[in-house]
Amino acid sequence: MDRPTVSFELFPPRNPDAAPRLWATIQALEAAHPDFVSVTYGAAGKTRTTTRQLVRRLLRETSLNPIAHLTCVGTSRAEITTIVEEFLDEGVRSFLALRGDPPTDQAAWQPHPDGLHTASELVELLRTLEQERCAQSPSQAMRSRVRPLSVAVAAFPRGNAATGGTRAQDVASLLAKQQAGADFAITQVFYEADAYLGLVAEAREAGVTIPIIPGIIPTTDPARLLRVQELTGVQVPATLLDLLGAADDELDRHRRGIRASVDLVQGVLDGGAPGVHIYTYNQHHAALDLLEGADLDGGARTPRHTNPITTDL
Ligand SMILES: Cc1cc2nc3c(=O)[nH]c(=O)nc-3n(C[C@H](O)[C@H](O)[C@H](O)COP(=O)(O)OP(=O)(O)OC[C@H]3O[C@@H](n4cnc5c(N)ncnc54)[C@H](O)[C@@H]3O)c2cc1C
Repeated sequence: MDRPTVSFELFPPRNPDAAPRLWATIQALEAAHPDFVSVTYGAAGKTRTTTRQLVRRLLRETSLNPIAHLTCVGTSRAEITTIVEEFLDEGVRSFLALRGDPPTDQAAWQPHPDGLHTASELVELLRTLEQERCAQSPSQAMRSRVRPLSVAVAAFPRGNAATGGTRAQDVASLLAKQQAGADFAITQVFYEADAYLGLVAEAREAGVTIPIIPGIIPTTDPARLLRVQELTGVQVPATLLDLLGAADDELDRHRRGIRASVDLVQGVLDGGAPGVHIYTYNQHHAALDLLEGADLDGGARTPRHTNPITTDL
């Protein structure tokens, strides 16, 4: 069966108390047999340690294939090289290469004086480091054949409001990332299938051939959607907020939100999307309800095994 890919975004727990809940979520999501899970890298690299701990534990204790997000913010080329080497040494083979946003106390993006300027430079660095490792060691070269390095990048259906970029500029940036060696892209949130399909059409026209996976947020929580709007500049349609606002109670709102997200998923899949990447916000119920509604849950409602939940990362 030609099942669309399913993947989830997670972030490292903000404090040790949040870890058990996250691991319960991870177990629930694992039962959906996702193709990969991606782990965010906090603004200005603030979660460097916890991102690494979570990725390492996902590799060691689950069947999941983790993708480590990386950004260029406030980091020299030498520091990024060390971070990448640490991940590679631990067996991480997949990265999401991002430029990142400036820290909140900084108005505009400024690269580190010895740092990288764009995500495409980070893609290039990842490819170069992998090549060097393979050239230095026949074992690494062999490993690379069995598990090739995979590099994802970001794409923006409406243009990146956070950088003031138009869609045309972001398509040019996406093409540069592809030329630097990106394997596929994951989009920022959006609320209309046409936004995603329009981006794909424009990207293909410009020569982008890599798969572009739509990033989908389950639209069950208006407060979260408005927070995402504040952070990303992606407007939540008034019709969606009205739909959720007219709910009789929380359960009704959840159902309405899931229905809207299922429609969006069906719209992008009907338009040719290769799969969906779900922004989980470290919660599994809405993500799994969405997959179930779209018939993509892979039997997630009957978990096959459980791992002990511990409080460490
Ligand atoms: C799926 C996804 C996951 C994310 N995860 C994280 C995360 O974990 N941590 C985090 O801090 N942030 C994350 N972000 C946010 C992201 O870092 C910001 O949106 C950032 O502002 C842009 O990053 P980029 O990788 O697209 O940068 P770039 O592609 O480098 O683009 C940055 C700016 O430069 C312009 N530009 C670059 N190259 C070119 C070119 N050749 N031609 C024309 N214009 C160009 C772009 O148009 C854009 O305006 C994520 C975003 C997405 C969509």
